[in-house]
Amino acid sequence: MVDELAAAFADAGHRLYLVGGVVRDLMLGSLTTHDDIDLTTDAHPPRIKDLVAPLATDVWSQGERFGTIGARVEGRAVEITTHRAEAYDPASRKPVVSFGHSIVDDLSRRDFTINAMAVSLPDRELLDPYGGAADLAARRLRTPLSPAESFGDDPLRMLRAARFLPRFDLDPEPGLEAAAAELAPRLSIVSVERVRDELERLLAVSEPARGLAFLHRTGLLGRAVPALAALGEAARAEACELAAAPGPSRVRRAGLLGPLGPEGAGPALAALRYPNAEAEATGRLLSALSTVLAADAGRGAGVGPGDGPLDEMVRRVVDQVGLDAMADLETLAANVAALSPVRGSGVGSRFFDCFHRLAAQEDLADLDPPVDGRRVMEELGLTPGPAVGQALDRLRQHRLAAGPMTADEALALLRAGPDGRIVTDE
Ligand code: ATP
Ligand code: MG
Repeated sequence: MVDELAAAFADAGHRLYLVGGVVRDLMLGSLTTHDDIDLTTDAHPPRIKDLVAPLATDVWSQGERFGTIGARVEGRAVEITTHRAEAYDPASRKPVVSFGHSIVDDLSRRDFTINAMAVSLPDRELLDPYGGAADLAARRLRTPLSPAESFGDDPLRMLRAARFLPRFDLDPEPGLEAAAAELAPRLSIVSVERVRDELERLLAVSEPARGLAFLHRTGLLGRAVPALAALGEAARAEACELAAAPGPSRVRRAGLLGPLGPEGAGPALAALRYPNAEAEATGRLLSALSTVLAADAGRGAGVGPGDGPLDEMVRRVVDQVGLDAMADLETLAANVAALSPVRGSGVGSRFFDCFHRLAAQEDLADLDPPVDGRRVMEELGLTPGPAVGQALDRLRQHRLAAGPMTADEALALLRAGPDGRIVTDE
C-alpha cells in the first residue's frame, strides 16, 4: 500500500517517509493493521492532495493549515504531513507552523529520539540522526535536543514522557526528569484539551504506574490536575496507585480523582473539559463507591441484620450508576480494598456478594414500576396531575425496597394507599 503511494510521490519528484511512532512500532514488531500510518514529505498540502486522491477512498483536509492531509488508502488511515520546521511563539508557545524542506530538521522537532526516526520510501532506508534505534534497544527515553529545550518548546512533551516510560518500559536519560521537574509549571500554557487527551492516553497504557510516579515526583500531576495539587502528599500517592490499578481507563480515571471525593471529582474533570456525561458518570461512580465501602465495613444506613436493607442499598446503587457501570464499580472497590492492609487480605465484598445474588434473582436492568402512568390513571380513576407522578414514585420506591412486583401487585398496592387507605375515589 505504501509502495503505491511512494511510487506516486517519487514519479512527481517528491520524497516520502514513514515517520514517528509507526517506525518505532515497526522496529518493535508491534505495528498492527489498524494503526494509523504517519508519513512526511517535502510536498506541500495541495500537492499531497493531488497525489493521494487517485489512490484514496477518502481524503480529509481539516489539518491542511498544519500541513496534514488525511486519507484512507486500501482501507488504512494514513496522515501525510509536510516536513515541519516549527518555530514557537515565545509568549504563547503555540507552534507557529512553517513548512521545512529537510527531513532531519523535521526529526529534530519531534518529542523523543525513539519517535524521531524515518524510513524513506520506496527504498526503505532508515534515517535515524538522533540514535532512536539505539535508545529503543537500551530502553532509554531521550529528547533529540536538550530536554530543557524540548520541554520548553512544547511542555506537553513532559506528559508524553510519562506515557512512553511505562509503555515501552524505558528509563529517562539523565537530566530528563530534572528538566521536567523544573519546567512543570510551564504546563499551564498548554490547552487543557491537550492535557486531557494525553492523560487519557497515559491511563490507557497497560501498566501506567511508572508514568504516574514520574508525574508525581516531578510535580506534573498537580499541574495537569490542579485540584490534586491542593491535596496532601499521601492523598496524591493514593491517587497514583488507584490510577495505575487494573481496570479500564474509566476506572483508573475515577481512581485518580478518588481522593477528591464525588463532589470534587466532577468539577476537576469539567475543568479539563471532559464531556459532562463523563464527568457526571465519574462523580456517580465515586459517590456509589462510598456506599459500597461503608456497606463492606458494616456501616451506613440500611446495613442491619438480614439481607433486606442491604438488598435495597444495592438496588439503589444500581439505580444511581446504571447496571452497565456495576462492573466498573466492583473493580474500583476492589482496587481501593487492595490498598488497605486489613481489607486487602482477600476478604470479599458484602455489597458485591449481595449484588451478584440479586442479579441472579431479579432483573436489575429494569427497576421501573411494572405499570405506566396511563394504567395508573385508568385503574385508580385519576385524571392527569401530580397524583399520578406520586403514585409512580411510590411504586418505584417499593421496587427498590422490596424487589420486583407484578402489575396486579402494583395496582393493589396503590389501591391500598400509603397507609392502607383506599385512594381510588380521590
Ligand atoms: P501512538 O502510538 O500512541 O500514536 P505516537 O508516537 O504515534 O504514539 P502520536 O501522538 O500519534 O504519537 O504522534 C505521532 C508522532 O508525531 C510522534 O511519534 C512524534 O514523532 C510526533 N509528535 C507528536 N506529538 C508531538 C509533540 N508534542 N512534540 C513533538 N513531536 C510530536
Ligand atoms: Mg500515532
